[in-house]
Amino acid sequence: MNAPGGHPLPRGVSGKLAPFGTTIFTTMTKLAQEHGAVNLSQGFPDFDGPEFIKQAARDAIDHQPNQYAPMPGLPSLRQAIAKRFTRDTALPCDPDTQVVVTAGCTEGIAAALIGLCNRGDEVILFEPFYDSYRAAVAMAGASARFVALTPTIEEVGGKRVVTSFAFNAAQLRAAFGPRTRAVLVNTPHNPTGKVFSREELTLIAELCVEHNAVAIVDEVYERLLFDPSQPHVSIASLPGMAERTVTLSSLGKTFSFTGWKIGWSVASPALTAAVRAAHQFITFAVATPLQHAAAAALAREEEAVGGLVPMLRANRDKLATALSDLGFAVHVPAGTYFICADHTAVAPRLGASDDQSFCMALIKQCGVAAIPPSVFYNTPALGHSLVRFAFCKKPETIDEGIARLRSLR
Ligand code: GLN
Repeated sequence: MNAPGGHPLPRGVSGKLAPFGTTIFTTMTKLAQEHGAVNLSQGFPDFDGPEFIKQAARDAIDHQPNQYAPMPGLPSLRQAIAKRFTRDTALPCDPDTQVVVTAGCTEGIAAALIGLCNRGDEVILFEPFYDSYRAAVAMAGASARFVALTPTIEEVGGKRVVTSFAFNAAQLRAAFGPRTRAVLVNTPHNPTGKVFSREELTLIAELCVEHNAVAIVDEVYERLLFDPSQPHVSIASLPGMAERTVTLSSLGKTFSFTGWKIGWSVASPALTAAVRAAHQFITFAVATPLQHAAAAALAREEEAVGGLVPMLRANRDKLATALSDLGFAVHVPAGTYFICADHTAVAPRLGASDDQSFCMALIKQCGVAAIPPSVFYNTPALGHSLVRFAFCKKPETIDEGIARLRSLR
């Protein structure tokens, strides 16, 4: 293509990012707005987190310097993160050499991959995967290997139910090899809501040790747990893993401030040096006042989580029941913001077949926006029968969503 003056125009998106297009969250939220749909697509709360955290941000803007924070993060926040990590894993953590504050966990994932990987290194992803993972592996110049989390559908009490999303141990073992640099694990898992079991994580850990690979673990939903029989386990706490795990988390989900984009990584000094090597040239440092507020938030974490989890659990139960009554085979999630369900018995009622056509019809005919999970797969066909609904919304939003979904009957 040429410009009006006849000069050739520069090309746009690079070859390494062109395959990933526009993220589904941007696409679906825009469509939800255009169609006046109840937005159960992008996972963000339609309410704010606790007032004391907002007040801490205002106070920091008014009374603290508004200039760059230190590159690895404000010392007070790094101390709070280190203390929390030790509380949760019983592992020692030095805030000066083991913690990095990042612009949300999404930056943490990219910084870890870019900081750790050489060209030609391989990174193992479980599919479905959160969509930024694959793009971040590409930005790091590494290549991805995929291991499927396969749904099992069973008849329970006269209803079809997704009872698990599980990987095949032999397939995981086969994905590891001499080029494996890292495995990227997300637990609790988006989009399935699966909480990886201690047994599953132990196998992943053993393979990491055997192949001298790093576990990069996205634990942003670590506090959003609904089933005491499925507790969250940090892979860093498993034998041999403290020195080979990058543990990533964030403020957004635990405290309902997804728009603040405050995340962090905790790892050994050697692995932290890798994360910092990239972070310093990606963002350098993260919004200073929000780091002060994040430190205040972590000091009163139980207060914030105490009210949130019961509300999310009630939303989950209500939405899961409604979807199941409508004929979806529902996976009742043990954690996260999300319900994944199989839409096979429902889609024909909208004249739809795969997840993309189903989600488009759902927006247009029902006024409800959801996420088509095939975008989270390397083999999209594996996600064609699935749909993801976010329930991190006000109870009245969930009620309105359910009322609209009932037109599917
Ligand atoms: N994590 C959110 C989700 O899965 C989306 C965040 C984003 O839009 N980048 O819905």
